[in-house]
Amino acid sequence: MRAIQLTEIGKALTDADVTIPEIGSSDLLIRVAAAGICHSDAHYRAGISKIDHLPLTLGHEVAGRVEKVGRDVTHVSVGDRVCVHYLVHCGRCEFCVRGLEQFCRTGQMIGKHRDGGYAAFIKVPGANAFLLPDEIPFEVGATMMCSSATALHALNKARFKAGESIAIFGFGGLGFSALQLARAFDCGDVYVVEINPAKLASAAIMGAIAIDARAADPVDQIKEATGAKGVDVALELIGSAKTMCQAVLCLGALGRAALVGLTAESMSIHPYTELINREAEVIGVSDHLATEIPALIEFARSGELRFPPETLRVVDLDAFQINAALDALQDSIDHVRTVIVPSSDK
Ligand SMILES: [Zn+2]
Ligand SMILES: [Zn+2]
Repeated sequence: MRAIQLTEIGKALTDADVTIPEIGSSDLLIRVAAAGICHSDAHYRAGISKIDHLPLTLGHEVAGRVEKVGRDVTHVSVGDRVCVHYLVHCGRCEFCVRGLEQFCRTGQMIGKHRDGGYAAFIKVPGANAFLLPDEIPFEVGATMMCSSATALHALNKARFKAGESIAIFGFGGLGFSALQLARAFDCGDVYVVEINPAKLASAAIMGAIAIDARAADPVDQIKEATGAKGVDVALELIGSAKTMCQAVLCLGALGRAALVGLTAESMSIHPYTELINREAEVIGVSDHLATEIPALIEFARSGELRFPPETLRVVDLDAFQINAALDALQDSIDHVRTVIVPSSDK
């Protein structure tokens, strides 16, 4: 079968002809119908995130049709439409038994630690496959399994409730989903903090109060807009110490700041005025959980989480096209996600 592989760090991905994987009794073989191209994939190719074995087929945002079913897998059948949860976990360690598989002792990420979906077929444990309703296109089913799932996890970690106000720092893929999901939770006012005019405009069109961080301190702007009260929840999706501090500073009493963006920078906040006195919380967010996927699928099925056609671009399962998409991702400023849709001869 065709697979697009990383064979050397820092080099372009290459077209490869590999054997269709054999499945075990607890596995599925899925014919890939859509595989999202993610910013992380550009990091793997560039060597910014470490890959420990090569060659590797990238791709952790996967949807398709079940081709073969291991005898112990009972919740799906051949021909079913499915999407794939990207964290493969043991199901037995002290974290897995508590439903916290992102800390699994032997956890593996599909498309990073094991072969992913930039291929005609992918083998995954049956437990990682979720039925994808007919109303959700494969392209959306693939794309939502990364940034949308993590945006939902961030809202859950922040214990976000109906009627609460929220500030979203950064309006990329995560922010685009977070805004829609916050509205699906029946939120109060949503503030989107950005410096990019096009993103500010699209956040406003989607019903958010756009906070232009170039115009004035976003914390001052949010405090003014909330009558000095501050917000109930802030999501930091950028990965900078400066915006992480701002996310904490814009909280009101009992506010929760969920930090999702990655950075190696240190941040500094005043414990008494910013946390203790307000009983505010700073919460780390990493990946998402299998138990959250059914709710995510239902938000997409009901249309509360949408990726309109103009936000998705399709390429073939072809190394040249995929490398070009990865190149473009480095400085992407819009909401267009590129999805691999293999043509039928692959
Ligand atoms: Zn991703
Ligand atoms: Zn485990």
